[in-house]
Amino acid sequence: MERRLDIAPLSEWNIFDESRPILVAGPCSAESEIQIMETARGLKSLGVNVFRAGIWKPRTHPNTFEGVGAVGLKWMQRVKNELGMKICTEVASEKHIFDCMKFGVDMIWIGARTTANPFLVQEIADALKDTDIPVLVKNPVNPDMDLWIGALERLNQAGVKKLGVIHRGFSTSEKILYRNRPEWQIAIELRSRYPEMPFFCDPSHMGGDKKYIQEISQISLDLGLDGLMIESHCDPTCALSDAKQQLTPRELGEMMKKLIVRKPDSDSPEYKENIHQLRAKIDVIDESLMYLLGSRMDISRQIGEYKKRNNIAILQTSRWDSVLEKVIERGKEMGLPEKFVSTVFNAIHDASVQVQNEILAGE
Ligand code: PEP
Ligand code: MN
Repeated sequence: MERRLDIAPLSEWNIFDESRPILVAGPCSAESEIQIMETARGLKSLGVNVFRAGIWKPRTHPNTFEGVGAVGLKWMQRVKNELGMKICTEVASEKHIFDCMKFGVDMIWIGARTTANPFLVQEIADALKDTDIPVLVKNPVNPDMDLWIGALERLNQAGVKKLGVIHRGFSTSEKILYRNRPEWQIAIELRSRYPEMPFFCDPSHMGGDKKYIQEISQISLDLGLDGLMIESHCDPTCALSDAKQQLTPRELGEMMKKLIVRKPDSDSPEYKENIHQLRAKIDVIDESLMYLLGSRMDISRQIGEYKKRNNIAILQTSRWDSVLEKVIERGKEMGLPEKFVSTVFNAIHDASVQVQNEILAGE
């Protein structure tokens, strides 16, 4: 059953200003007071107001750099006091939350490995009762939207209303261009289920390499997401974690200038009229598509009945292979990507097979 979430709008979070896109930036990890201050100053000069840094780092292997721990919160507090920036970090336990409270952390996020663990999420949710600190929840490492939603529900039930998400992509064992697979359809689905929930993308962890940050950021903006969390380090080559994916504050500034920010909507009467007409055309086509799908399904049913009477198996794979080949060929002539055509037709075929199975199973 789908439950609603009670979400406070970003304007009530007291973290972000009005400018769009919202940017949260800072190093993967706090490493030293000098590194924190130098990076924060560079970011502040770009107009960044929300500073991130990892204090406790969930690393894959032991005996690697696992974060400086609570001492780093002192350095972040300096960023807050001297530069007037809001500060945020990742938490994974009750103790982390208490430390954050002690040092005036303004916002926290839950990392991908932690979101995947309901015990930890519940512990964090319990520790957040009676606090007002905003929380961003990264997607779990595995592409499981329900696990992500479950974490949001646990926090919301504990009274966390300043609640948002960060899409950072999903682990995969396949060799892909990025470090984590975007699976944008999951983000789009979550966005449409909870349109009121602030939505961020983390192009640094999704891309895993600074060369992909611009393209991923642009896709996020084009999808209408609210903000970006991007890793930035004063000297990325020396970073103790995620060195490849961090930009210097200057590079981040250059990248941001290249992004095209589209408006969510327009008040212009001409725009409204044109878009209305185009959407009307789409609606007519959708209606025809539904009619065609319905007619096709009727015939599938007839075929099912006929096969049943003649005691014939439902699936003749060679027939389907040739249908698919034909439509893909036809799709190419019409400028439709092969993947799109095969996805649509396989879905249609699966539904037909299911209907015919039911017919065969019925008396
Ligand atoms: C991070 O933001 O530094 C981090 C560890 O991210 P993730 O949880 O997305 O891997
Ligand atoms: Mn990182």
